[in-house]
Amino acid sequence: MASQPLSGPTADLYQGPFNELVTTLWQWLADNLPRDLTWPVLSVTLLIATAIWLLRDGHGAKAADGRERKTGLLQFLLPRDIFTHPSARVDVALYLFERLIRPFWVLPFVVAIAPVTEHNVMTALDNTLGTGPQLESSYAWMLLYSLVTLLLYDALFYLIHYVEHKTPALWAIHKIHHSAEVLTPLTRYREHVIEGPIYAIGAALAYGIAGGIFGWLFMDSIAQATLFNLGFFAVVFGFNGSFRHYHVAFHYPKWLSRWLHSPVMHHVHHSYLPQHHDKNLAAVTSIWDRLFGTLYIPEKDEYTPWGLGPGQQQHYRSFVQNTVGPFREWYLMIIGDHRNISKEGDH
Ligand SMILES: [Zn+2]
Ligand SMILES: [Zn+2]
Repeated sequence: MASQPLSGPTADLYQGPFNELVTTLWQWLADNLPRDLTWPVLSVTLLIATAIWLLRDGHGAKAADGRERKTGLLQFLLPRDIFTHPSARVDVALYLFERLIRPFWVLPFVVAIAPVTEHNVMTALDNTLGTGPQLESSYAWMLLYSLVTLLLYDALFYLIHYVEHKTPALWAIHKIHHSAEVLTPLTRYREHVIEGPIYAIGAALAYGIAGGIFGWLFMDSIAQATLFNLGFFAVVFGFNGSFRHYHVAFHYPKWLSRWLHSPVMHHVHHSYLPQHHDKNLAAVTSIWDRLFGTLYIPEKDEYTPWGLGPGQQQHYRSFVQNTVGPFREWYLMIIGDHRNISKEGDH
């Protein structure tokens, strides 16, 4: 920026190298803030939580131990025991570390996979069924395109998540997400650096397959539907993602929970009680969990103690433990020392 000519609105904002560095750092921070932790999403989350507090006379929030209890409004919205918990601090450290590593894999993986998949799907359809019907796009079709993409994304998320829970070598990676002892909106991003690319591939395949099918069906390219000028996905994911890692129990009516995951259903997923193991594995809908028998709709304010459980938690408290964890477990698996690896009952 220092080399730009001094003209226009930037003329009186001449910046030296130090300012430039600060600007660059600030820009990097702004670019890498969690995309769902925006003021609109957080405001809606706090607003709904306040409504729950009012409607339920102070009930509905869980403490760090996963038990519901009655509290005043401030403690209800921002409980000290949760937001000052060591686990919440590790969430921040893991998030920042993952963001530092991310630029090294985002480009090759996500940027390449979606368009290549889309192109291959369109070519395959051309070769088997001939040229597409060249339909005209409309809002209804755009909505259908968004829904198909969402269902495909959810299916691939379910599949990857299911395999991670059932395969010991992959559970060693995914258990970093489950080692969270308290849930905060940032816990959504708590994962081992190796796990990011795995889910990114799933997402890129879902977007690529849906894009290929709809690209073949329509004459001109078709775009996703928007709600109030926001991407359909941004609305669904933003809200769902931040609230399901919030400690307030937001239940949907039972009939709706059979179609969409309510935020509290993810409290169950993070619980170490045996009846909660490997339940509610999808990201958005309840459809795939229902089909494969992993759906669990909790009772009102059901007890959900979070984390890996007494047997394993001490190995997964600090940032270093959570970063080295998978490598440590793989090593133990290779040398055949199964006493120190998580057993079925630990997640
Ligand atoms: Zn999981
Ligand atoms: Zn989670």
